Amino acid sequence: MKIYRALKTNCVTQGYGVENTAPSMLSLYKSLGMLGHNGIDFACWSGEPIYHCGDFTGIAKTEVDSKGGIGVDVISKEEIEGGYFKLRYWHLKKVNVYDGQEIKEGDLIGWGDNTGLSTGDHLHLGLKSCHEDGEPLDKWNGYYGAVDPSPYFENIFVLDILEVKQEALSVIQLAQKLIAQIGLWLLKGRSKKKIKNNNMENNNMKKWYQSKTVWIAILQSTAGIIAAFITQHPEIAYLVTGKSIIDVLIRVVTEVKVG
Ligand SMILES: [Zn+2]
Repeated sequence: MKIYRALKTNCVTQGYGVENTAPSMLSLYKSLGMLGHNGIDFACWSGEPIYHCGDFTGIAKTEVDSKGGIGVDVISKEEIEGGYFKLRYWHLKKVNVYDGQEIKEGDLIGWGDNTGLSTGDHLHLGLKSCHEDGEPLDKWNGYYGAVDPSPYFENIFVLDILEVKQEALSVIQLAQKLIAQIGLWLLKGRSKKKIKNNNMENNNMKKWYQSKTVWIAILQSTAGIIAAFITQHPEIAYLVTGKSIIDVLIRVVTEVKVG
């Protein structure tokens, strides 16, 4: 599982756990029955759009607390790493989802604000390991079941990641076409050569290697493996190769005339 940044503003104001909680806030969390802060806080402007930032599809559940806090939980629809997870988006001004709605990565959850127990406009993002119905696995862990999101967190705006995924997919599709075309050229070249071999078994083997379907399948599955890697690790495409390289690749592949 990967969690990206749910909002464009890039400013983490507080992390998870006792060691990342502002000392002045520790007594407040203690009074709420917690050891420390149970999520990651991001500064935002009032009304800033907040998007679903986990790379999983989930089911929305809107929430309101006794202090006027407004939020949304997104519970993973399917198992992730052998269990279920939910992401909590809190202190919202208004929500953009309804209970039971299916939420995909990058969907608009609502707009950030300062509702509930909060001292300024910010998004509280919490992560809980839970059962299928959203009930936390360990409600009494000192954080009401919340776990540290940071091992899953990549500080890149989720909409930027989606853009990269989309671009990577277009490159891959074009690369697959190109690879298949190269396979066909190779086959044409090979079929011109006469095979002189009386050994039946070897002959059959050669015929098998000459089969277009086999070549295309081999070439396409190679491209498929690369595709799977890039779509599973878009942050690598983004951080290592950079968007500009992907743009260049798209141009190169589209400009190569095939067929
Ligand atoms: Zn918080």
